[in-house]
Amino acid sequence: EALVRALKNTLASKKIHPAYIFSGIRGIGKTTVARIFAKGLNCESGITPKPCNKCSSCREITGSYSLAMMEIDGATHTSADEARLLADIAKYTPARDRFRIFLIDEVHMLSKAAFNALLKTLEEPPPQAVFLFATTEPHKIPETIDSRSYHFRLKRITEEMIYSYLKGISEKESIAIDDEALRLVARYGEGSMRDSLTILDRLVSYAGLDKITENMASAVLGVVNRDFLLKSARAILFNDMKTLYNLLNQLFERGDDPERFLADLMALMREILRGKAIGEASEELSQIVTKVSMEDLLRAMDLMVSSAQRLKQSLDQRVVLELELTKIASLPSIVPIDKIVKLVEESESPFNSEILFKGEEDKEEKREESGEQKQIVDGETEKAVSEELSFSALIPFKRIDDEEAMSYDSKNPKIERFKEAVSEELPLVGNAFEKSQLSIDPDGNLHIFMQSSSATVMKYLKELQNFKKLQEIASKVGIAGSILLEKGENGFDGKEQEKEEIQEKDEYKTKPATSNFISAFDGEVMKIVRKNYTSESGGDDGELE
Ligand SMILES: [Zn+2]
Repeated sequence: EALVRALKNTLASKKIHPAYIFSGIRGIGKTTVARIFAKGLNCESGITPKPCNKCSSCREITGSYSLAMMEIDGATHTSADEARLLADIAKYTPARDRFRIFLIDEVHMLSKAAFNALLKTLEEPPPQAVFLFATTEPHKIPETIDSRSYHFRLKRITEEMIYSYLKGISEKESIAIDDEALRLVARYGEGSMRDSLTILDRLVSYAGLDKITENMASAVLGVVNRDFLLKSARAILFNDMKTLYNLLNQLFERGDDPERFLADLMALMREILRGKAIGEASEELSQIVTKVSMEDLLRAMDLMVSSAQRLKQSLDQRVVLELELTKIASLPSIVPIDKIVKLVEESESPFNSEILFKGEEDKEEKREESGEQKQIVDGETEKAVSEELSFSALIPFKRIDDEEAMSYDSKNPKIERFKEAVSEELPLVGNAFEKSQLSIDPDGNLHIFMQSSSATVMKYLKELQNFKKLQEIASKVGIAGSILLEKGENGFDGKEQEKEEIQEKDEYKTKPATSNFISAFDGEVMKIVRKNYTSESGGDDGELE
């Protein structure tokens, strides 16, 4: 609006500059505006903000065959010679028209020499010559040219403006289209009227005589629908690889744009973050918002930003998208400082050498799928520390409140079958599970509340391949969700312990072993996880996360 006023004022004042710059994003209508401006300059009715569109000059400009106006593509005519030629032509007054107008599109593409040639003309402008420069990158125009030009900045039009314009058009041309579909088109045009119109055209020719619905529009535009996005977000945040790969397959089969998908996914993540931050969420998001931790969410979003960058630069977008999302989805859902603090502890705590049970280890060795996770099989030797560190963090560990836990289903027949299968395949673990409480939550996840006396089994299960084995058994008996190991006699940590924990966190801030790390990494004590060592540990040593 402001721009239109500026244009009109310029024309109404009849004070004409030798050069005008029209800048703005691609498709915003720079050359269109420049042409209207040219009409206003040369209209037979005089320099006017309202060109008549009927006189020969106006009609010639509309049809691009005006002798007084030359349109030059700056991207292909970049040489100094061509610019000099223009400068020569500029000296001649047109026979009929008021001004000789040069419209140079993509002017920033001109060579330096060409700009210099133009500059000479602009320094001593022939009175009847007007240069109109259209560009998406005004900062690339040399200062010397810019300072001699009047600059019109074309602002991105809002989605709402595009929407109402499209609505007007579809009413005028009796296009049968849903309001939601129109909004989708407007959003998809990303501020470009031209792109929006092209999209609308595409939809019209696709729909034929049918009404264009939102579903049809999103299918044609490759907009991944909401449900699909929600499923993807869940799969990524809750480490569900199988679903994730399923969804990605669908995405590529449909031929959707991976970049667009990732962008939409990130927008959804922001919604989830907002829900998490303010503590409320729409019904469709509430489940994710409750289950995901702030740390996991922020980290996933961080990684997505760099993924988007990598995706943009890659030639094989399918591979990159799969790779990036797999990486994010396989992140351990535990705060990474865990590893660091653990390293300190390992180095100075007396109970860092733990005895694993020998019989189980031998079996596990045979079950290993690859040599990557080599295990040192020796009843006396503990597993290499570094391996331990990299795997232990993979076990999802969740806190739940009492009420929630009460609602879990502990009578599910699958649990009995699971226990039986575990006893058969991993007798020691099975034995420990006999003393534990197992239940299945409404999402199908299996919660195992380990007793504190089962520390050795816990430790054993914290190793990736052992945990994997457990998951295999679970899925064999029909438990589709994740396995969540929890600590506590009954799985319920009371308020008392919370208080204790706060005290302990403060203590850890001052302990030399941890305080150095906390300050070195600018960290926080997030959570203290008790190892519940009975005899060896002396009782009051905990483990930090
Ligand atoms: Zn006219």
